Formats: sequence, structure tokens, C-alpha cells
Amino acid sequence: MIEITDIAKTFTLHNQGAATIGVMQDATLSVAPGECVALVGVSGAGKSTLMRMIYGNYLAASGTIKVAGLDVTTAAPREILKLRHETLGYVSQFLRVVPRVPTLDVVAEPLLTVGTDRDSARAAARKMLARLNLPERLWSLSPTTFSGGEQQRVNVARGFVHAYPAMLLDEPTASLDGTNREVVLSLIEQAKARGAAIVGIFHDEEARDRVCDRQIDVSAFAPDRSAA
Ligand code: ADP
Repeated sequence: MIEITDIAKTFTLHNQGAATIGVMQDATLSVAPGECVALVGVSGAGKSTLMRMIYGNYLAASGTIKVAGLDVTTAAPREILKLRHETLGYVSQFLRVVPRVPTLDVVAEPLLTVGTDRDSARAAARKMLARLNLPERLWSLSPTTFSGGEQQRVNVARGFVHAYPAMLLDEPTASLDGTNREVVLSLIEQAKARGAAIVGIFHDEEARDRVCDRQIDVSAFAPDRSAA
């Protein structure tokens, strides 16, 4: 479902004389339906960079990244958008939403985008918010003023409300208490059981060991500096 082959990544530092730095080379990784793979490695190893490349936010210098057959390294922007709407979910660490949109609509939106009718989308959003123990009095408010843990639950609800065949999870349990951490882990287990291919960053080792089938140390893809 997610096939990463020989990916290299360099950053160009425009504010430093256009210097280029290599952060990754020969990154190869494949994630099958129903499988969860954890990206591990020291801070700065390139875990977030690899996730952003899979989502099509960062361009690779070379190599291919296929998600459900679409090579995101060469796909047109509208193909990437279609992929994000239908196939590839992303639970990022931080919630980015349009101000003043009520939480219920924020969570229902991924379903409306794929053509679900409004009543069914809202019903599914309510169910997901209740499952994540977000108090009902908050559902009609914009999540912009919510606490870190409340925002993370809105983000998780939005990410899991549609049954994406592939998912990227960036620290999905980072700001949560034990009860809600458990809910998120069970959502991940359910997504795997229905065949979702998942790539995640989990600093929570216990969570990682429980839901991930394998871990990939991204430090292994560091460029060979001696050859540079
Ligand atoms: P991790 O998620 O494993 O902590 P990152 O993917 O955030 O690591 O970063 C990998 C390397 O790429 C780091 O050296 C970081 O400084 C660099 N990097 C990440 N994003 C950028 C950027 N937008 N511009 C320049 N360098 C970046």
C-alpha cells in the first residue's frame, strides 16, 4: 500500500547562500495493508521529513513513493489532494483548522469531502467525539481555544472518522491521559484490522510495541558523509 524506494532528500538553505544539506539517501520501506510500521531514530534523523514526503508536503530529491499506486514524488497537486481526501489520512501533532468552524463540523468534514451525506457524517463525528471522551458542550465550539489534549483528540477523531486505506500518525498519543491513550490505541488496532497500512512516529514506547508490527530506524538512511 505504501512503497518507498531509494528516496533521497536534500534541503536547500536559501538564507545561507543556498547551501544544500543531505538528510537522507537510499530510504526504502514498504508497508502492507493491515500493517503498522514505526519510524524510530534519534531526533533529527529524518522521521518527520519522511512522513512529510509520503504526504506530498516535501519533495524528494530522487526515488519514488507510491501510495495505493500513485507516485507522490511526481503526482500533480490535484492527484495529491484526491489521495489525501480518499486514501491517505494524516494525524499530525498539531491541529490546524479554519477559525470559528465548530468541532463537530471539523470532524465531519473528511466524510463530507468523500460524498457522505451531512446527517450520516455528523452522526459518525458525534460517535467518534464521544468515543474520545470530548465533552459534548465543546462540540459546537471551535477547537482553536481547546487544551493540547482536547485538540489532539479532535485531530484523532478527524483522522479516524473516514476509513482511510493508508494513514500517517505523528505522535497520536503524545498529549493524552491514560484513558484516551487507550481509546487511540484501540482505534489504531481497529484500523489495522480493517486493512489500513499505517506509518507512525511514537515516542511512547509501550504504545509503539503494542500497535506496531515493525520499526524502521531512519538513522540507517543518513547520507554517507565521507563520500560527500
Ligand atoms: P526527526 O523527525 O527525526 O527529529 P526531522 O525530519 O525533523 O527529524 O529532521 C531531519 C533533518 O532535516 C534535521 O537535520 C533537520 O534540521 C533537517 N530539516 C528538517 N526540515 C527542514 C527544513 N524545512 N529546512 C532545512 N532543514 C530541515
